[in-house]
Amino acid sequence: MALSGIQIFKMLPKKNCKECGCPTCMAFSMKVAQGALKIEQCPHVSAEALEALSEATAPPMKTIKVGTGEGEYTLGGETVLYRHEKTYVNKTRYAVSLCSCMDDATIDAKIAAIPAVDYERIGERMRVEMIYVNYGAEAGADKYLELVKKAVATGKTLVLGCDDVEVAKAALEIAKAGKPILNGANASNYEAMNALAKEADVVLGVSGANLDEIYDTVAALEKAGNKNLVIDATGASIKEAYANAVQIRRAALKDQDRTFGYPTIVNTSKLAVKDKYMQEALVSLFTMKYGSIVVVDELGYAEALPLFGLRQNVFTDPQKPMKVEPGLYPLNGADENSLCLTTVDFALTYFIVSGELERSGVPVNLIINDAGGLSVLTSWAAGKFSGTSISTFIKENIESKVSCRKLVIPGKVAVLKGDLEAKLPGWEIIVAPLEAVQLVKFLKDMKEA
Ligand code: SF4
Repeated sequence: MALSGIQIFKMLPKKNCKECGCPTCMAFSMKVAQGALKIEQCPHVSAEALEALSEATAPPMKTIKVGTGEGEYTLGGETVLYRHEKTYVNKTRYAVSLCSCMDDATIDAKIAAIPAVDYERIGERMRVEMIYVNYGAEAGADKYLELVKKAVATGKTLVLGCDDVEVAKAALEIAKAGKPILNGANASNYEAMNALAKEADVVLGVSGANLDEIYDTVAALEKAGNKNLVIDATGASIKEAYANAVQIRRAALKDQDRTFGYPTIVNTSKLAVKDKYMQEALVSLFTMKYGSIVVVDELGYAEALPLFGLRQNVFTDPQKPMKVEPGLYPLNGADENSLCLTTVDFALTYFIVSGELERSGVPVNLIINDAGGLSVLTSWAAGKFSGTSISTFIKENIESKVSCRKLVIPGKVAVLKGDLEAKLPGWEIIVAPLEAVQLVKFLKDMKEA
């Protein structure tokens, strides 16, 4: 269990020197107990106390790494139950399910469909990150091992869903270089599975008939020295899976019970839901509560768009506006003589506008102003995107870099045209259409005029 502020205070040097940023050692202790500060932020704490406190004051949910290279993902490490309390840290990863119980044509079609989801949104690459390779015992070990080979060839990070020790051993021989998860430990086989996972140096997934059984198995694995675990929260029904996911996370973060302080897998493909839209709804649910890996039967482009958008919204820090760096962004081979167009530094605005500009093919110097990470109208209303701020930014940062003196401003702030003409002598101020999607025609018409 986590230490209280008083227990932490007893191990501090009690100098009240304020070097940690707190007025007293007691105030520092309280913040460490809440998880708001780290014990290392006190420069005077002794090595012995640091060692004793580091483990006890570590976040209640472990951070677990899986995969390698581009496919390495960090799971868990969460400190709050609700995003608005602080922020979520490591985003849910999506896995497509394959099973050796499927026929070859189905497996090949599902593997062929995986690369179809690959696009960028607000600077983040969206794609299927993992494959869950399920062992259908009735199809036999050989078919499963062939499936593992096919899955390895995709280059995706794998979760090997197999509770047969011998088959799992052979599967790990094929897949272990990619640091998969071996999701196969349960109350009856955990010792053998633990030995396999340790030997292959991979994360071990733990499942059970109910939460009590999972808890006891995790505790036994921890006692055997393995804390490189994930918990399979998938139950026999949607209701059970949801209850498991919530109770595991609440026990870890609210009750500070570290036995449940591990990332979770929720496998929606095992919840007997045939309707693919219902499955997508379940993936949304478990993205919010509380799947670290959510497994789904299929993830096509149409299903991916809302899911990845949701995930991006849930796993951004609500305290930090999504911004891009203010500056000059030459697009489509723009040089100093190319037209200038300005907008705000809100990331979503930047990526929408720059996408449309790139689609136009017209060389443009995109000037991003420091507008506090707000949208065009919000920053204008807040006085952060005004005639003064735009003209000052252009005089200080842009005029020395471009010769062209034509500046396109967003249609939504057409009202700034007169002010900018007065504050930027020598510049022609042009008002763009209201919507970014209209920029392509607007720029092409300008080029031809
Ligand atoms: Fe106390 Fe350490 Fe903070 Fe100084 S830096 S006030 S000793 S906790």
